[in-house]
Amino acid sequence: MKEDFDGQFGLSFNFDNRFSLELPADPDTGKQRRQVRAACYSRVMPLTVSAPKLVAYSREMAEVLGLSTEACESQEFADVFAGNRLLDGMEPYAMCYGGHQFGHWAGQLGDGRAINLGEIVTAKSEHWALQLKGAGPTPYSRTADGLAVLRSSLREFLCSEAMFHLGVPTTRALSLVLTGESVVRDMFYDGNPQSEPGAVVCRVAPSFIRFGNFQIFTARGETELLKKLVDFTIRNEFPHLGEPSVAVYLKWFEEVCRLTADMIVHWMRVGFVHGVMNTDNMSILGLTIDYGPYGWLESYDPDWTPNTTDAAGRRYCFANQAQIGHWNLAQLGSALMPLFEGSEPLQQVLNSYPRYFEQGRQEMMGNKLGFDRYAADSDNVIVEELLEILALIETDMTIFYRRLALLDINVDIDTTTDKELIKPLVDAYYLPDEVSEVYRARLAKWLRAYIRRSRKEGKTNEVRRAKMNAANPKYVLRNYIAQLAIDKAEVGDFKFVSDLLELLRHPYDEQPEEEEFAAKRPDWARNRAGCSMLSCSS
Ligand code: AMP
Ligand code: MG
Repeated sequence: MKEDFDGQFGLSFNFDNRFSLELPADPDTGKQRRQVRAACYSRVMPLTVSAPKLVAYSREMAEVLGLSTEACESQEFADVFAGNRLLDGMEPYAMCYGGHQFGHWAGQLGDGRAINLGEIVTAKSEHWALQLKGAGPTPYSRTADGLAVLRSSLREFLCSEAMFHLGVPTTRALSLVLTGESVVRDMFYDGNPQSEPGAVVCRVAPSFIRFGNFQIFTARGETELLKKLVDFTIRNEFPHLGEPSVAVYLKWFEEVCRLTADMIVHWMRVGFVHGVMNTDNMSILGLTIDYGPYGWLESYDPDWTPNTTDAAGRRYCFANQAQIGHWNLAQLGSALMPLFEGSEPLQQVLNSYPRYFEQGRQEMMGNKLGFDRYAADSDNVIVEELLEILALIETDMTIFYRRLALLDINVDIDTTTDKELIKPLVDAYYLPDEVSEVYRARLAKWLRAYIRRSRKEGKTNEVRRAKMNAANPKYVLRNYIAQLAIDKAEVGDFKFVSDLLELLRHPYDEQPEEEEFAAKRPDWARNRAGCSMLSCSS
């Protein structure tokens, strides 16, 4: 048992721990791996590690939680968020959940390397759950060790905060701490295990409940518990829907469908590929959760997946994400069936998901192109042709949209040559030799149609540009940039992580001093491990 303490430097929180207080616990408090029945969670203590050392923290998240700079820079902070000390009110536990992995029911999964510290209420009455990832084994760790390495933790830390600043719904990250321990990992499961620095990220979210938390109870026939968790979730996370009832359950499912669609629309907007959209990695709040083998589109390739485990099937590639969201919601819907008389109402709500998604997608594409009113009939044609063109040759998606905003819609489209017209965009191409005569003619034809369409908006170039630049980030966490941060952090240089965090705070702004981070991926990173290829659960 760890000793509780009231932190110095204002390192203390007001815990209400509603999840663990209101829902049934596993009576067994041991760490041995097991099937946990009739419980929403198991109590478990984080491991004690040898030398907690802060790598970085998010000052925005710290502020929301009411922590001062002094508190965050104290050794106590590193100790607490490595799992070595508990603050007054912390009651650690791991959640029980199941899930479909790559389309197949996998049974109990659970927090195998995440330990919740508890839920706090801030001075502004906001609820936040704090969770350590990589703080040691739990009953749900199956054959694994419950630990995380610096490489994957840094990727999770940076991307959570980058996504937040991009306006994408996401779980957050408060801190990244080195544990002082070594962790052995076989990065590509190819028989080459290596010792790597161990690390812990403190994740923060209003709730970490996933689709899989509901699925596990239905799979086990634990309907009472299913109802308890649904009621708890509605009362605490969706109170605006009213007191739980069958009608409210349906409204809630509808809202989860909308939130999920909305999140994936954002992913498509910024070029994010989650990489492992298993149902245990789907937040009930529609937040991006579990940053593992995720990646950012560099060249626009709808079939691209960063996840080597998924390279053959490409189930979770960029273009499949909307459809996988639907599939995952269907699994959640099935899990909720015991709460309804028949499946018809759930099925109807589920059937409306493609419509929500399509509405969101149209609005999003309209914003990316600078259109205030998306006219589906004609604008869909423009968008489809653009997406085909983008995939024809290696084209950097992020750069392309920012460059498109620079196009002057007042040019004389009849006299301007194709070459002249596409000039603002040439920076987006990885292989200039691919820009053939045929390609150029097709793009120029599209640009003329786009200019004609944009003129109908009656906006100036400046107004159009501002609208587009608010939807099209200039700076994203390019895969190779995250890898550069890892390379430096692994040799003890943490400054780059902080600099990067600063850069990613303003992803839509021009930051003239930081142009190099808005540039195309350098050639060395094309096929380097960690830059374009990642594996699950490292
Ligand atoms: P993921 O697909 O990475 O979200 O992980 C799937 C499941 O494996 C979850 O239940 C995780 O908690 C568990 N898991 C992943 N990595 C580890 C690890 N190093 N130790 C224990 N459990 C893990
Ligand atoms: Mg997971």
